[in-house]
Amino acid sequence: MAQRLHNFIGGSWRPSAATEALNVLNPASGETLAEVPLSPAEEVAQAAEAAARAFPDWRRTPAGDRVQPLFKLKALLEDNLDSLARAITEECGKTYAESAGEMRRAIENVECACGIPSLMQGRNNEDIAPGIDEHMIRQPLGVVAAITPFNFPGMIPFWFLPYAVATGNCFILKPSERVPITSARIFELLQAAGFPPGVVQLVNGGREAVNAILDHPEIRAISFVGSTPTARYIYSRAGANGKRAQCQGGAKNPVVILPDADMEMTTRILADSAFGCAGQRCLAASVAVTVGDARPALTGRMVEIARSRKVGFGLDAGVEMGPVISAESKARIESLIGLGLKEGARVLVDGRNTIIPGCEGGFFVRPTILDDVAPAGEIARTEIFGPVLSLMHAATIDEAIAIVNRRSFGNMACIFTTDGANARRFRYEVNAGNVGINVGVAAPVAWFPFSGWGESFFGDLHAQAHHGVEFYTQTKVVIERWPRDWSRKF
Ligand code: NAD
Repeated sequence: MAQRLHNFIGGSWRPSAATEALNVLNPASGETLAEVPLSPAEEVAQAAEAAARAFPDWRRTPAGDRVQPLFKLKALLEDNLDSLARAITEECGKTYAESAGEMRRAIENVECACGIPSLMQGRNNEDIAPGIDEHMIRQPLGVVAAITPFNFPGMIPFWFLPYAVATGNCFILKPSERVPITSARIFELLQAAGFPPGVVQLVNGGREAVNAILDHPEIRAISFVGSTPTARYIYSRAGANGKRAQCQGGAKNPVVILPDADMEMTTRILADSAFGCAGQRCLAASVAVTVGDARPALTGRMVEIARSRKVGFGLDAGVEMGPVISAESKARIESLIGLGLKEGARVLVDGRNTIIPGCEGGFFVRPTILDDVAPAGEIARTEIFGPVLSLMHAATIDEAIAIVNRRSFGNMACIFTTDGANARRFRYEVNAGNVGINVGVAAPVAWFPFSGWGESFFGDLHAQAHHGVEFYTQTKVVIERWPRDWSRKF
């Protein structure tokens, strides 16, 4: 029987009393890896209460001491990178190199948060009036929580956790119920890193656990990453309960290719962006808009690359693309390809009905390219979240920018060109939180904030870096007068 995962509450591993559980599958084989409990609301309450008990001492721990477990965690993550990457590939499907890459970004966020003693500093002015000084200090919020998606189980919790705890908060993670094994491994390392009991907690589950987090009065702030409908729901329920919220949603990322682009480099990078992680990246290129003569040069090369991409189990040598996350996801992607064809697109490479020898139970969709996708059609607007690239064509850069800005999502937009003036114009005019210029996945490093615009993000402060510090702290302003002579009249 598959091993049932536990929650980590109050500094120890606890079996959940959940009556419902789900099987966690290896998407490359369909094999069951573990069982994840759908924890009831009471277990979220236990985690929130343990965190609230830990908070007074943790916030009083000097910032320089609070980051010591993070330094230790960095070393533990480095030492265990191989096994963490393997765990990610097994439950999430991406290749080993992609899994190791996401752990590198996780580690980078831990490193960044180790700078909290500087990052968390306030501001002050002496003599805002004669003899009166004003200070702004940052204090932690209390108990905070993050709810994360399936596609980056090793990285996304680290957009939040290091900043939350380094600033003095106590933290609860509710990982995706589809990929909970990586979180269990990470929490073993968090335990070994020496955080006091209650500072970091893990509660497995689905909707009931999420709703309990959104409603629990001790939990002051919510960080969410997932699809847009869920992000919108979380943002409104958290807001109605008076909580801070930052909710990252879905995406539909366009890439514009001008005729002067270096086509060899462009096609290689575009293919990695569209088909890397089987297209299950919020920064995956999903629409390529060629301008003028870029069309024939790009199309032919992209077709070649899409056809030759080696698809299979991500731990096998030479595999360049893994499966999608589930049978439901495969069926959804295939039906969206069908919808594109009904809307008038032509399929240049068709990845439907893929069976990989040796991985017959897996959920594979090969790279797919749709051409002549109508900019106003449903397929041009809907997030497919699979290895499907839609091609559109524009006569001018103005037309291409209009296509880019027509969509409701605003996570990323990229341009490939050798013309600096056009690149600058694109950067200036596109509605997107992340812009790539001759870059296919414009994912900010840990010391820059990360988030989209439009329907890709609900909130104000983004993830990572100084935005993380601001999100997890509240400012207090102190105005003080210390006269030498108390007998003087003020
Ligand atoms: P999802 O919205 O299905 O799930 C995300 C989390 O929300 C999970 O922990 C899940 O348990 C919970 N959840 C799902 N439905 C819920 C409901 N009705 N009520 C309460 N909780 C609910 O997302 P997913 O399929 O795991 O992840 C893929 C999505 O995430 C894609 O849309 C992708 O673009 C997006 N994503 C966005 C970013 C970003 O930075 N903007 C990054 C990664 C992924």
